[in-house]
Amino acid sequence: MPGFELFGEQEKKEVQDVLDSGVLMRYGFDGMRNGHWKAKELEAVITARMQTKHTQLVSSGTAALTVALASAGIGSGDEVIIPTFTFVASFESILAIGAVPILVDVDETLTLDPLAVERAITKNTKVVMPVHMCGSMADLSALKKLCSKHGLLLLEDACQAIGGSYEGKPLGSYGDLGCFSFDYVKTITCGEGGALITNNGDYFKNADHYSDHGHDHTGQDRGAENHPFLGYNYRISELHAAVGLAQIRRLDDFLALQERNYRILRKALEPIDGIAFRKVPEGGIENYSFLSFFLPNAERAKAAESALKEAGIDGCFYWFDNNWHYYRKWEHLANRISLGNLPKEVTAGLPDYSKAVFPQSDHWIGRNLSCLIKLGWSETETQERAKKMANILRNIV
Ligand SMILES: *Cc1c(COP(=O)(O)O)cnc(C)c1O
Repeated sequence: MPGFELFGEQEKKEVQDVLDSGVLMRYGFDGMRNGHWKAKELEAVITARMQTKHTQLVSSGTAALTVALASAGIGSGDEVIIPTFTFVASFESILAIGAVPILVDVDETLTLDPLAVERAITKNTKVVMPVHMCGSMADLSALKKLCSKHGLLLLEDACQAIGGSYEGKPLGSYGDLGCFSFDYVKTITCGEGGALITNNGDYFKNADHYSDHGHDHTGQDRGAENHPFLGYNYRISELHAAVGLAQIRRLDDFLALQERNYRILRKALEPIDGIAFRKVPEGGIENYSFLSFFLPNAERAKAAESALKEAGIDGCFYWFDNNWHYYRKWEHLANRISLGNLPKEVTAGLPDYSKAVFPQSDHWIGRNLSCLIKLGWSETETQERAKKMANILRNIV
């Protein structure tokens, strides 16, 4: 998955342009910047690549989620449905605007189960936020139908799945809003950065203003601009955008490498009885950043993780015991440990997660291993790795 593996001359050239102009900020300084607008240029490339109308770059994927929610008018006490298997950024972005994260089961897609989502809808629900974990997507068609039926927004967290698609649409562009992360370990990186995409002109305008202190970005004098509503600073810098600009031009090459390596591993594991692969919903194409599969039970999944690690096969994750990606280890959320007081609407609306169990999620995540696909592996290296993995797993299942 990580774009940092292939950081090179193209990235350096784009960054050097910014250093030469001396304008490190994305807004203003028109005269000084000598025609360099890296953030704007990157937004235009993302807009074209994602076949969407608008892109707003921001400082991180977490910021993209926060700005996306805020731009759609989500706020205090509103409920946002997220999966039990995700990154902590999902609930952080929701809590940041005073809204309430509602955890819901995942299924064999490793993403939101539409049936469980429907059961979780209340009069306060405003958003369904599927998270396309490890390169593959939720059943977006089912989720969209639910959202239409109940008047909810569909916000895709595509931070880990850039380049994948569903029903011919790039992931992130299927819902009302979609978010990407360009942090250092994602498929393409800015160092730190993120983006939201949408076809909704109002959401885009709100995102543009909100992510820059409410600046309305009209006229030539930044200091004289108006602030139609309260905002915050989630800006990306030109230096970061410059890295991303070089990286996104290489996205399709990265995806091709990921797919090649993924297929080699998958082909080696497919014949093994007792290994089943994560379900990809019909119409979906992964971005191949991970190969995720199920073992017959949790005990064997754990044993497989240890055995792979011992054999020097790194990058296979047993998410069930992970501190950052699965609800079982989110004690800070469950026990509501924040530095200051949480908003009253949050404490009143938040379910008691200290007692919550999600047997259906445990059933799938407990048996799952996800193996990171690296860009830097040669074909031969990948084949050797595949052989080793197959031998180890055959012994375990
Ligand atoms: C990385 C990630 C984020 C947050 O992105 P940052 O750029 O690190 O803030 C959000 N959601 C998912 C699924 C991620 O993997």
